[in-house]
Amino acid sequence: MSQRCEARFLVLAVICVGLNPLAVAEVKQSYAVRYYEVPYGEYQYRQLAQYAPMCVDGKRYVGCTKWDLRWSYKHRQDLRCVLLNFSIAVTGTIYIPKIAEQSLSKNPILRRAVDALLRHEEGHLDFPVQAAYRLEHEIKKIGDRYKTCTELGNFIDKIGNRLLLDAQQLERKYDAETNHGNKDGAIF
Ligand SMILES: [Zn+2]
Repeated sequence: MSQRCEARFLVLAVICVGLNPLAVAEVKQSYAVRYYEVPYGEYQYRQLAQYAPMCVDGKRYVGCTKWDLRWSYKHRQDLRCVLLNFSIAVTGTIYIPKIAEQSLSKNPILRRAVDALLRHEEGHLDFPVQAAYRLEHEIKKIGDRYKTCTELGNFIDKIGNRLLLDAQQLERKYDAETNHGNKDGAIF
């Protein structure tokens, strides 16, 4: 049975490659959470924020998420421009305070605040990820639309940059609406 399936799969694969010359298309994601050091017991917002790294807007917040959205592609100029492959990568780092476990276990309100902060910061990453999938969707539709590879490259970069700006704008809206997670329980 498995042999038959493999044979069918092979035929399908050949047909797919024949129909769509785009060999590789994917969105890669990688994230990390970094805990910055804070002195024991200094858990008020202003106290914490002064130990936080500088965030993307040059200010310090108790929590901060820095992300990057990059894309690359390869093409070949035939009669029309053929897109051979592309890749889109979202990388992100979340910064939140390293509060002593002893303090967290004594203070469930503080623990809930830290959990809410982490969820808020994770929410920031939704914007570049959504942008990445939209970009992937747009790129997959290109087909042989462009005669020259300059046109094709310009189109991808233009749409990528637009989606990048949209993501940054949505992120600012998210912070304004949640007051940087405060309304969702990230209260220090
Ligand atoms: Zn935020």
